[in-house]
Amino acid sequence: MKLPIYFDYQATTPLDPRVLEAMLPYFTEHFGNAASRSHAFGWTAEQAVEKARGQIAELLGASPKEIVFTSGSTEAINLALKGAAEMYSEKGKHIVTSEVEHKAVLDTCKHLEQLGYQVTYLKPTKAGRVTREMVEAALRPDTILVALMWANNEVGTLNPIREIGALCHEKGVLFFTDATQAVGKVPVDVEADHVDMLCLSGHKLYGPKGIGCLYVRRKNPRVRLVSQMDGGGHERGMRSGTLNVPGIVGLGKACELCRTDFDKDLAHAKALRDEFERRVFASLDYVTLNGDADHRLPNNSNLSFSFVEGESMIMGIKDIAVSSGSACTSASLEPSHVLRAMGVGDELAHSSIRFGFGRFTTREDVDFAVEQVVKAVKRLRELSPLYEMVQEGVDLSTVNWQGGH
Ligand code: PLP
Repeated sequence: MKLPIYFDYQATTPLDPRVLEAMLPYFTEHFGNAASRSHAFGWTAEQAVEKARGQIAELLGASPKEIVFTSGSTEAINLALKGAAEMYSEKGKHIVTSEVEHKAVLDTCKHLEQLGYQVTYLKPTKAGRVTREMVEAALRPDTILVALMWANNEVGTLNPIREIGALCHEKGVLFFTDATQAVGKVPVDVEADHVDMLCLSGHKLYGPKGIGCLYVRRKNPRVRLVSQMDGGGHERGMRSGTLNVPGIVGLGKACELCRTDFDKDLAHAKALRDEFERRVFASLDYVTLNGDADHRLPNNSNLSFSFVEGESMIMGIKDIAVSSGSACTSASLEPSHVLRAMGVGDELAHSSIRFGFGRFTTREDVDFAVEQVVKAVKRLRELSPLYEMVQEGVDLSTVNWQGGH
């Protein structure tokens, strides 16, 4: 067994060998520029790009012309939010989003606020979910855009996208969804789900890094964006820059595989995740599930281990690669903004770990992870005076223990 074992599929995924195989010729013999119109090198590259556009569109229920290639989700989010804000500023300057979005959305919204836009940051439920009612209550006559993630990257909570999309269409407000964590894991159909713009990223679905796309609806309504990258007018003027042909071929193949292997991938990840949780909960007390047990990505498990400090935990399980609920900033350990918005106390947020399961996770990997986690938690709790007190029956509500260890 090669250590450490990878359990961080939300951060990135390994490239599927079938994707690599599809990409390789486009680094070597088919190296043409897809914008070269006068010779076969260009035509071959362009054909490959158009094939990929079709593969992606098919996974989303979109039309190929609605796919705009970008360097990934961060860029697609910037294009969607800034591009729409600029285009529709005459109509209004109000945007609705949520407190649990990825930094790419939150920081883009902060940038827009500096330019005079107003942003409502919805507070989610304790499970991290935004409801149709919350969105409806936030809409104003000058709202131009609702931007909400499909699936949360930390806790895996799924938003009711179809309901929110329907609401936005009823009210004539554009709806953007960050589907970076959702595509390939939940069914996506931009028509039935009433989505106007959606981003996805190659490296989250067994494709390469540095490539992604923005779906931009062409009718009912036709979405228009002000480009954020000016130049040769590529991608129907929405994103200039020579296309990353091998990356695009890889993204196309990765999306095709997400479609053809959808049921298998889903069943595989969910079975392993559920087995992992069942055994961890059976072996340890004081473990909390963060997120929405009923509306959750099938491959995500975000757990808080009380009486254990997150960083010590990460050190204690260094043979498995996971992420913790604290983000290490230069000066301090900041608890995750997602867990904070969900009302999880700092103490529990610091003790939370995100486990991710995917196409290449095996049953042996899960056996190993359960063993490592249970061993580490038990060992670390032996060092915790609070845990000892709990074992002796002391009621902790009478003790000031927040921040106590
Ligand atoms: N949105 C979500 C929900 C993500 O999980 C990520 C990746 O961390 C991003 C956006 C940014 O994606 P990319 O790495 O393609 O820029």
